[in-house]
Amino acid sequence: MSAIDDPRRLPERTEVVVIGGGIVGVCTALLLAEKGVPVVLCEKGRIAGEQSSRNWGWIRKAGRDPRELQLMIESAAMWRDIAGRLGEDIGYGIRGISYLAETEEELAKHEDWLDACQGFDHGSRLLSPQETDDLLKRNDRQFAGALYTASDASAEPGLAVPAMARLATRCGATIVENCAVRSVERSGGKVRAVVTEQGEIACQTVVLAGGVWSRTFLENLGLGLPQLAIKSSVMRTTAGPEVTAGALGATGASLRRRIDGGYTIARSGAAEFQIVPAAFRHLRAFLPVLAERWRIMKLRVGPEFFGPLGHHRWKADEISPFEQVRVMDPTPDRKLLQNVLASAKQLHPRLEGVEIAETWGGLIDVMPDEVPVIDEPAGWDGLVIATGLSGHGFGIGPGVARLVVQHIGGKAPMVDMAPFALSRFSRRGKA
Ligand SMILES: Cc1cc2nc3c(=O)[nH]c(=O)nc-3n(C[C@H](O)[C@H](O)[C@H](O)COP(=O)(O)OP(=O)(O)OC[C@H]3O[C@@H](n4cnc5c(N)ncnc54)[C@H](O)[C@@H]3O)c2cc1C
Repeated sequence: MSAIDDPRRLPERTEVVVIGGGIVGVCTALLLAEKGVPVVLCEKGRIAGEQSSRNWGWIRKAGRDPRELQLMIESAAMWRDIAGRLGEDIGYGIRGISYLAETEEELAKHEDWLDACQGFDHGSRLLSPQETDDLLKRNDRQFAGALYTASDASAEPGLAVPAMARLATRCGATIVENCAVRSVERSGGKVRAVVTEQGEIACQTVVLAGGVWSRTFLENLGLGLPQLAIKSSVMRTTAGPEVTAGALGATGASLRRRIDGGYTIARSGAAEFQIVPAAFRHLRAFLPVLAERWRIMKLRVGPEFFGPLGHHRWKADEISPFEQVRVMDPTPDRKLLQNVLASAKQLHPRLEGVEIAETWGGLIDVMPDEVPVIDEPAGWDGLVIATGLSGHGFGIGPGVARLVVQHIGGKAPMVDMAPFALSRFSRRGKA
């Protein structure tokens, strides 16, 4: 990684500063650098230290909200292209993703999704119980069927985004790790610079791709963003026999075959909703998400209430919350994960011998409607927000980055940007 650790070498000016070295920030820097646009990416910790290396590695169109499905279809094509140009193995492959249905009700939900997404080229279809057995190479008809997408892909998150960052630097992007951006300066309503912990960088455009930190950053500028954090726990297992080459979703346990022969396993939706002061402000907006998942989601008032994601105000010459937590590394729920592994073994008896090799937690940045925000807020010309990918951003991240770059360049967007507008929340109430 050609990160710049020497503060004296931080550029004094550039055209675009990207805040955040997750998949959105890194892909934005890559696409800009490929166009010859001067770009500096500042990451407070290390590239892909947070969500972008902690996720399951699913690159899926199946099950997406129709509002973001076309963007995901574009993103899937970008994944193929970028993976082919990295010059290193990131475990990318089009291996198919299936959502297994244990009951007719679950199968009916998949059918509803197919109905809602008619007209999109997603390539998903329903499998019969026999076809599901054939796919899983078993013959017990345990499943009522599945939603199967042969063209869905997967990759190793820990490898993918750092490799993309290396490609971005080869294309001319400057990537600076351990460099928090504290604030954005503007004059006459137009962005003119960012203030980092290592000094100021003059620029015309700032892209905020700060993941779970975006709300805290914007609140300090006086801008509202109804974004909250959900903690999710994941495990990696020891190597075991192949159940699938790709990924399988099911209520009790979802898994992906890793390139090391083990599995990344977790339970979809089983998460902890982090109660921070902003949660009370935005609770109403989040009630539908909470109501849908109340059985499997815990509410938790923890250190985060007063901690880095709590209520903070700082000046540009003061230490910011981003310097206090370089890499957000939440403690995983081991008890839950033991239970998830038991479910995985029940669903897939071939996994009987695998054991937990590693566990980790990740904080997911969620919006009330679980669709990203990609927008330039009024009164802040040149500040582009790209955040709130709501637990689906590994797959759609490259597409979000391309939309951001098209917006910056004044080009026609490849998909309608209206569903991603920040103002969709203020129409319902205060953002
Ligand atoms: C457990 C888990 C499982 C998931 N599974 C999947 C999956 O299978 N498929 C899928 O598509 N998605 C999945 N996701 C979601 C996906 O990982 C995220 O949506 C995506 O990685 C978000 O990328 P990002 O670039 O927006 O944010 P992040 O990856 O969170 O990156 C933001 C970066 O910004 C930095 N930053 C923040 N503020 C500042 C600042 N002021 N200055 C400098 N740097 C700053 C942070 O340090 C961080 O590195 C999962 C997420 C989790 C946690």
